[in-house]
Amino acid sequence: MELLTGFLLFLSFFVGVSHGKILFQDPNYEPFRNCLNRNGNFSSLIVGRSNSKAYQQLNFQWQRKPPFKTPMAFVLVRNSRDVQKLVRCGTELGIHLMPKGGGHSLEKYAFGDSATVVVDVRKLKILKINKVAMTATVGAGWLIGPLNYALWKTEKVYTALGICPTVGISGIATGGGYGIFSRTLGLTVDSTLEMKIVTASGAILRPNKRKHSDLFWALRGGVGSNFGIVTQFVFKVHPAPEHVFYGTLSYSVSQFVEVFDAWQKYAPSAPASISAMAEFENGTFDVHVSDPTGSGANFEVLVKKFPRNGIKTGMRMTYPDHLFLISKHFEYLTPATKFDSPPDLENLVRGSTLPLYQKRKSFYTNVEVGSLGLLAIKTFLEEMPDLVTLSFEAYGGVINSVAPGDTAYVHRGTLYHTYVQYRGQTPNATAEAFGRFWTTKYFELGKTLVHHTESYQNYVDGTLPNYLQRYYGSNLKKLMEVKRSYDPKNYFHFPQSIPT
Ligand SMILES: Cc1cc2nc3c(=O)[nH]c(=O)nc-3n(C[C@H](O)[C@H](O)[C@H](O)COP(=O)(O)OP(=O)(O)OC[C@H]3O[C@@H](n4cnc5c(N)ncnc54)[C@H](O)[C@@H]3O)c2cc1C
Repeated sequence: MELLTGFLLFLSFFVGVSHGKILFQDPNYEPFRNCLNRNGNFSSLIVGRSNSKAYQQLNFQWQRKPPFKTPMAFVLVRNSRDVQKLVRCGTELGIHLMPKGGGHSLEKYAFGDSATVVVDVRKLKILKINKVAMTATVGAGWLIGPLNYALWKTEKVYTALGICPTVGISGIATGGGYGIFSRTLGLTVDSTLEMKIVTASGAILRPNKRKHSDLFWALRGGVGSNFGIVTQFVFKVHPAPEHVFYGTLSYSVSQFVEVFDAWQKYAPSAPASISAMAEFENGTFDVHVSDPTGSGANFEVLVKKFPRNGIKTGMRMTYPDHLFLISKHFEYLTPATKFDSPPDLENLVRGSTLPLYQKRKSFYTNVEVGSLGLLAIKTFLEEMPDLVTLSFEAYGGVINSVAPGDTAYVHRGTLYHTYVQYRGQTPNATAEAFGRFWTTKYFELGKTLVHHTESYQNYVDGTLPNYLQRYYGSNLKKLMEVKRSYDPKNYFHFPQSIPT
């Protein structure tokens, strides 16, 4: 009889098999569902762990890094009050909640673990533009490609957003936000005027410069999920340029030393109107310049600073054409995704991203690499396999006009940010070891060359020692104080969260 009861209990929690994993439902699931339904009708908004198509779609993980996550449930919230009810039930029953925006956390933190309820904000898609105040009120559910396009289509405005179009606004905007126009407009955190957030006490707050200014400070670089669930942003916007000049200079690895030296000397101090990002991919070093004045004059000045024999291309194009071109260059979409012209940006969704196993390591530098160091990087590039790429994002301009303590994003005054990335299709132990080996090799080489001490908190790296110091530096102490004020029991937590 006891055996039979045990077996029936076992069956009652068994909900299927996914990715070779046996799925059981958590004993806390029903009490949580009941709690929510007592507070409103959540039946159609909550999707518990199962084999169902709805669960599989919500549980789409573009990052193929194992383990495959199977959270207890997803809840598709419609407004801040829904989130408030979730937080109240969550704290009452001791259920772990994780907010999820675009799902681009490199460590899949938004998916939590098997006892987590994921608060999926994709339905929060408000967009209101005030052309007098030049502000945009933006729901936390937007992906940045569709948002960039909608800002232009609706009122011909733009703001400082990131590059990859399927990244979520809520993750990028609370951790930093570097994009093509960051040297001109600053980071996304620098354009944020207000947020709406549900904190661990269940309060709905609107932190800005005057109210809850400590929380407002922390949410601009301190990563939202440390402090609560953000449901809305207000950003400063600007008239979008009619035309953008886009130019590229390309070189082979044999010229790396001279070309990179020219880039590190010129790009961080170039006029603030131009971006000058560089990347090394498949044996080629490319310098990309975007200039929202639409003029090629700054590009021509830059070209003169570089060795003559680069392959030069450049053209003036409309703002939406430039947006599309950049998005296409930096995005990896599934073959099923139609992405042929700017309006296709509107249709990008979370499942549009091609699942890949991606490992990134990042660091900032305040000093130039010397000639011996440049030779050492060149040797690294010659050995580096094609699946590994290097990117260099020039700072200076408006980004460095903000002091390290003005927002929680501490990495100011720096020359550039660089990251190494491995992209593979196969999520197995060999691929993981391979990705880790090459990314670590570059990171360690960087330590010997520029003695870096900071990494980008939005490129979360589960293998990073001393990560709190590297992500937040001299702002860490204040971030911990804000955490203690708004979440004293550390209700919102994840593997690299800010402790109380
Ligand atoms: C392919 C790729 C390209 C990228 N390109 C850029 C780039 O151009 N510029 C740049 O600056 N960064 C870039 N990033 C980094 C990106 O900013 C971070 O990965 C960011 O955290 C992703 O946000 P998300 O909403 O998509 O991810 P999610 O995985 O949904 O969330 C990331 C983190 O934010 C938290 N979070 C999400 N929503 C909320 C919310 N509503 N309230 C509170 N916390 C929340 C999550 O809990 C999690 O901890 C890129 C990353 C990838 C993988």
